[in-house]
Amino acid sequence: MMSIQELIWSDLEQYARSIYTAPSFQTWFTPAYLEGIDLERRKIIIHVPSDIVSTRWQDDLVPKLIELAFKHTQYNLVPEFTYPNMATTIPSNDSSVRSDHPEEVRGTPLDPNYTFDNFVIGPNNQLAQAGALTIADDLGGVYNPFIIHGGTGLGKTHLMQAIGHEVLKNNPSAHIMNVSCEKFVNDFITSIRQSGQNKNVMDEFRNAYRTVDLLLIDDIQFLENKEETQTEFFHTFNELTNNHKQIVMTSDRPISKIPQLQDRLISRFQRGTSCTVTAPDLDTRVAILREKMALQGIDLPDDTVEYIADHVTANVRELEGALAKLKLYINTTHNTDITPAIATKALSEMHEESRHADVSIVEIQEKVAQYFNLSISDLKGKKRTKAILVPRQIAMFLARELTDTSLPKIGSAFGGKDHTTVMHACERIKSQLLEDEKLKHDVQEIKNLL
Ligand code: ADP
Ligand code: MG
Repeated sequence: MMSIQELIWSDLEQYARSIYTAPSFQTWFTPAYLEGIDLERRKIIIHVPSDIVSTRWQDDLVPKLIELAFKHTQYNLVPEFTYPNMATTIPSNDSSVRSDHPEEVRGTPLDPNYTFDNFVIGPNNQLAQAGALTIADDLGGVYNPFIIHGGTGLGKTHLMQAIGHEVLKNNPSAHIMNVSCEKFVNDFITSIRQSGQNKNVMDEFRNAYRTVDLLLIDDIQFLENKEETQTEFFHTFNELTNNHKQIVMTSDRPISKIPQLQDRLISRFQRGTSCTVTAPDLDTRVAILREKMALQGIDLPDDTVEYIADHVTANVRELEGALAKLKLYINTTHNTDITPAIATKALSEMHEESRHADVSIVEIQEKVAQYFNLSISDLKGKKRTKAILVPRQIAMFLARELTDTSLPKIGSAFGGKDHTTVMHACERIKSQLLEDEKLKHDVQEIKNLL
């Protein structure tokens, strides 16, 4: 059985292969290795030959590494890089990302695991799966657009990307764009902003989206209330469908329930087909667990598999989380005989972990203060020097993003500030995050502390 570290590494390797050209892969990935995981300090330690390589990692691989580390351990681990003190030669070969890879996908690379082969069919998803398979064979045909909706963690993104893989399998030169709706919105806003200085930016944006055979766009509900982006998407949509190009979308709710979605978009969307995925029943949950166990090389007795399937019912992502937790347990205790009783114990720890994930405003204030070397009363106070104002705005932004608290309540948690102040802070940080790398880094680091 592969250890957790090996699993994280092999998944990351697969990802690195998908984004790099062969020479870049050699340069940036091959010389690195995973030194270890320090659960106490919540660190995942990566050895690289030089700090130049680690800088490159920050941009290309760290987000995926964090995601994979969480997937396999259920802990938020922060990457830490070590390298030899001796100056090493700087890699000199060209390092451009993804240029000659045959399966070049625009936007975000497809997740290599999200294939039809790895997708377990059950009564909860068989219509959606059949529809998706049909699309892959008949791009731009009758099911255009194709929309998959349903609750979180039920396989929408998986199915959507499976279409992409299948299309590439049949036609490696197909042009595919895979993006989250959020990325579409952000790209659009950035293009508008930059088009003042450079007229070509907007054309480039439009070209990128309008010259594909297949547009995969995830979580379309993110268009809600975004009038201008909706208009842009409307034109993208028309251009593609007029040319018989395929659009596939996912949504966490039926299209008609997306607030403030333009009527013309709704009516365009309704010309296609939509399918629902729902929560898997017991048999399907067992089948999914078996599939994931095989994929990850983990072996559990039948009664334990049934125990998990019986108790973890909400969605597939939680099933995966339960498996990851058990795997960590096996890895750390070297006890491979996981009885239902042991599973109960290991999984109850998982619930504790997820409670920790529910952060409070106070924790956010503590971590932000600690990170910037300020006191909590600085954050709650009225001083508006930049050194205090920006951290305060970050803390408000995180409070809004990570807790369910209303704007007025956040205001009062920050020394009785008006809700418009909080709103302003959130908007400001949100827009700065699009262009300020340092800020992005700080916010990520603070999130990792939480
Ligand atoms: P959604 O987009 O609906 O929130 P995802 O597609 O991200 O959900 O699925 C969450 C996780 O569950 C993914 O790792 C995915 O591979 C897995 N998953 C969901 N449905 C299935 C299925 N039917 N068979 C195998 N894995 C699945
Ligand atoms: Mg999704």
